[in-house]
Amino acid sequence: METEFRAWMVEDQEQPAVWRTVNVSDLPQADVWVRIAYSSLNYKDALALTGKGKVIRQFPMIPGIDLAGEVIKSDVEQYAEGDRVLVTGYGIGETHWGGLSEIASLRTEWLVPVPKPLSLPDAMRIGTAGFTAMLCVMALEEHGITPERGEVIVTGAGGGVGGIAVTLLSKLGYNVAAVSRRPELDDYLRSLGASQVLRPDALGDPRKPLQAERWAGVVDTVGGELLALLLSQTKYEGCAAICGLAGSAALPTTVLPFILRGVRLIGIDSVRCDAGRRGEAWSRLAELMKPDRLNAMTRTIALDEALAYGEKLLQGEIRGRLIVDTR
Ligand code: NDP
Repeated sequence: METEFRAWMVEDQEQPAVWRTVNVSDLPQADVWVRIAYSSLNYKDALALTGKGKVIRQFPMIPGIDLAGEVIKSDVEQYAEGDRVLVTGYGIGETHWGGLSEIASLRTEWLVPVPKPLSLPDAMRIGTAGFTAMLCVMALEEHGITPERGEVIVTGAGGGVGGIAVTLLSKLGYNVAAVSRRPELDDYLRSLGASQVLRPDALGDPRKPLQAERWAGVVDTVGGELLALLLSQTKYEGCAAICGLAGSAALPTTVLPFILRGVRLIGIDSVRCDAGRRGEAWSRLAELMKPDRLNAMTRTIALDEALAYGEKLLQGEIRGRLIVDTR
């Protein structure tokens, strides 16, 4: 193994990350070392890189909440040199040095073998966003939302989680409505499988707590008034799987959709999700997300461009997924 590598480093809560050379001997204690091939740029990474959100809890920190690469050194039996692995969550890029780097030191229990049909870039084209979208879809399925129950609506559809959720749901036979603020993405969202694309401000009056029943299911990445509005339009015993706060962390709703319509509100967390569920989600993703679909929604950037693209992502200028080539 080389003695030095390049990485982004966040040294202080309010400051943007700096591009640095790091000594391998400074990597945190671990049992598997990985040469990262790809990472991805998620909303959380953009907040961490730019210093615009309190994501990182220990400094200095290499940001990057996911990565895919090859094992270059292992102290455990389960993994050997050359094995293809991926990691999402578990605090990498938040409490343990993460993926916006050329090398990472990791704990065995965080690693997921990259499913056979997926390439390393495909693993990150999916990344935390796709994994989270799959968990949302699994939650809807587990709460009885079959395609026959009616339309499912996905918010923040122009982003990573939303775009993959639209793709997965459409592949599984659901009738999908996509919500996006950007009219220029209508054709793209239809190409992912949305049967209609809606603007958030054309959905109804967010102050009315109960409205005509429209949605069997909701996948929400935005939060705030938009989520409250969709809950008020969710059908009897419908389900909302919620994972994000791209619009707001607030939820200005009432108990009415829950006590009068039996609406289920299911929170989705990808960070501490257990290993069994991770394996199930990744094998389904490998089966459902074909390379042509993934390519169509992804742009590849170089590692040293991550900060500039983090700014663009927070300004809502990015469509779909951004993967970071760290080789
Ligand atoms: P992206 O930035 O890729 O997408 C977010 C999308 O939300 C944007 O493209 C935009 O879609 C929409 N949006 C952004 N800002 C606003 C706003 N102010 N009001 C309304 N809509 C807005 O982010 P990701 O897809 O990576 O993540 C989405 C959310 O999910 C984030 O909050 C993220 O933190 C969360 N997340 C949670 C996880 C978990 O484990 N719970 C895991 C992964 C992500 P458009 O322009 O089309 O309207």
